[in-house]
Amino acid sequence: MQESAAARPLDILIVGAGFSGMYLLHRLRNLRFNVRIVEAAPEVGGTWWHNRYPGLRCDVESLEYQYSWSEELRREWRWSERFSSQPEILEYAKFVADKLDLRRDIQFGVRVERAVWSDETHRWSVSLSDGSSATARHVVFATGALATPRMPDIPGVENYEGRIIHTAQWPAQGVDFNGKSVGLIGTGSSGLQVAPQIAKQANKLNIFQRSPAYSIPARNRALTKEDYKTFFENIEEFDALAMTQKGGIVVANPTLGVQDVSPEERKRMLRERWEAGGAFTFLATFKDVQMNETSNQLVADFVRDRIRETVADPALAEKLCPKYLIATRRTCVDIGYYEMFNRDNVELIDVSEDRIAAFTEKGVRLASGREYALNAIVLATGYDAMTGALLAVDVVGRDGLTVKEAWENGPRNLLGLMISGFPNMFTVTGPGSPSVLANVIRAIEHHVDWLSNCFDYLRRESIACIEAEEQAQDAWVQHVNQLADRTLFPRTPSWYIGADIPGKPKVFMPFAGGLPAYREHADRVARNGYEGFRLTREKSVAQA
Ligand code: NAP
Repeated sequence: MQESAAARPLDILIVGAGFSGMYLLHRLRNLRFNVRIVEAAPEVGGTWWHNRYPGLRCDVESLEYQYSWSEELRREWRWSERFSSQPEILEYAKFVADKLDLRRDIQFGVRVERAVWSDETHRWSVSLSDGSSATARHVVFATGALATPRMPDIPGVENYEGRIIHTAQWPAQGVDFNGKSVGLIGTGSSGLQVAPQIAKQANKLNIFQRSPAYSIPARNRALTKEDYKTFFENIEEFDALAMTQKGGIVVANPTLGVQDVSPEERKRMLRERWEAGGAFTFLATFKDVQMNETSNQLVADFVRDRIRETVADPALAEKLCPKYLIATRRTCVDIGYYEMFNRDNVELIDVSEDRIAAFTEKGVRLASGREYALNAIVLATGYDAMTGALLAVDVVGRDGLTVKEAWENGPRNLLGLMISGFPNMFTVTGPGSPSVLANVIRAIEHHVDWLSNCFDYLRRESIACIEAEEQAQDAWVQHVNQLADRTLFPRTPSWYIGADIPGKPKVFMPFAGGLPAYREHADRVARNGYEGFRLTREKSVAQA
């Protein structure tokens, strides 16, 4: 195999040029490491490059979904709306790449296919999709938690003669639904965002719903000069508040439980947040929504009542009411989703019992034999979340152990950062870290700062090799499980648990203890000389 033309002996190879990889590249370059990103897409942005379906917006507010580490970036960039659209977030990623001159150290359009650890050289050999290779002391997988699209387990896709589009693989030139009869499979965050956009264009939109989801209205609006003035005047308090909040969101930590107030007061408080818009703030009205089943049901009832209030047809409204415990799956944020069902060209097809049995030449057939003719089918069926991107790479660690083998019964790692048996290899926002349960930008910033400090420490101390100790890893996995078991999360099948992928081990993957507790723990580990990690000095490596 040819060593890539661009290849130099690397200190650190980063996989992925999303918000994690970009910030990590910047930090490590400033520390004068020899570092490079390998990115499959032709541009920066990660998930915001791959996902471009109409209606896509971030469910975290713009002023919070941006890097907070750079005062300069925050002062120079202007978001136009409260909840940013995908094109604007992608523009922001490009703006950051230009401003920090990142592209010169990013190899675009190339996928990492294999990474093999050598105990002799204490290096990773990385094979790339263009036939070239690279060697690096450390590899960081900054591949994102939601990067591998999931196709539904419905047979016969090859028979369908119309057009099939997954929301995570939307064509750059867009799709014209004018005059078409469109089928939408999937009613999670992506489905709820894309549906109203398709309904505006298509002749008919058929929504195949297996499980209804909870959604909170975005109440999106333009950001004004006044908003920015307030933001900059209070930026220190803003950051301080975000750092104390479990989800890393700028809202005061709730002090009251749902049942601490009268029913009238509860409804008033929830109504206030409902009218203000946004899921994170709505769910933070009370402190026990994710912990206490009765409290959870009371909040869920409130949302179900809002659905009944919005959808004109009572029978249809009932079908749209979710039944699982609220906030045990990612709560959606929508613009006009429930209102859309009052249009004549939208039909909801309940496939919770009468499942979609097959794709046919003309559309889909349900188990009952009922057929739907469709000119196009949109799949909003989600991702192989949290583990899919790493498992797509053939990663071979010590003694030939692969990540697939190490994670056969579910992901195991230390701090969500490192897997025992895979020295000098890290993941950003992986399973075992708060990532998807928080404002992921804040989670990324902490991981990148932690990793940068770690690499700097290893170099200063002449440490050639770092590896998660198995005992420490076991303790961390146990801690992550215990935290999840204290919540209502494990009660609902969700992608947090891998429940949506046949054969995927059913393990609650994210760290449910919140960002501040995670930060405190990870920072203490670092202060204590990377407690739980085995460090091997240059000299002993040379002797080994
Ligand atoms: P998702 O939440 O995993 O939803 C997948 C949907 O597909 C579910 O409704 C699922 O039904 C349905 N489905 C799968 N197979 C099916 C089948 N055979 N028949 C019928 N329905 C089927 O995926 P997503 O909406 O792409 O969202 C994934 C995550 O990405 C979100 O939770 C969020 O974290 C992130 N995201 C964020 C934003 C944002 O920031 N606004 C936007 C999009 C996505 P079941 O529920 O019955 O399995």
